[in-house]
Amino acid sequence: MCDGVILLSGGLDSTILAYYLASKGKKLVALTFDYGQRTVKREIEFARRTAERLGMPHEIMQLPHVFRSKLTDGSGTYVVPNRNMVFIAIGISYALSNDIPKVYITAHKDDWTTFPDCRPEFLCALNLAAMLGNNLTEPIIEAPFLYMRRYEIIQLGHQLNVPFTDTWSCYESATEPCGQCVACKLRQLAFEQAGLKDPLR
Ligand SMILES: [Zn+2]
Repeated sequence: MCDGVILLSGGLDSTILAYYLASKGKKLVALTFDYGQRTVKREIEFARRTAERLGMPHEIMQLPHVFRSKLTDGSGTYVVPNRNMVFIAIGISYALSNDIPKVYITAHKDDWTTFPDCRPEFLCALNLAAMLGNNLTEPIIEAPFLYMRRYEIIQLGHQLNVPFTDTWSCYESATEPCGQCVACKLRQLAFEQAGLKDPLR
């Protein structure tokens, strides 16, 4: 019996979520998306490590490369249009097709300003749509970190002994963290706020 699908990007937040849910005894399947992002190989490699360590089945979802953004073809901003809608919808289809009751995602409070599709109202609307569209009697999307700050998630990861070396945040490089992009800077700030040292730096 599987308890949930987890959308595992290989980043800090979703890796900590995987360890957190495993610590609660949840049996999960991990999905990682290839949507044409430039750092995809590294993300898949790191997601695979986490899935292996936690004994989770891991599937790579190949998406059509429709997303234009700074993360994919270098255009526009780092906001990837409608990404969470697509990822979560695929997670829900996967879950319902395999009798899995939940889809776990890592939206959190520090993402609300930049990413409207990480806000509670969006996730509430998506849960409602999924319930109406599939005759569900309860919400399927779970975002356990939704009201947490990034540094609090890192502190939780530290308590759970998450190997932070197995997490990739950089938007610009798939070899060494660049230290300059917004993802690297936010990661650095959150580690400082958490009072911890990032082993990748
Ligand atoms: Zn970077």
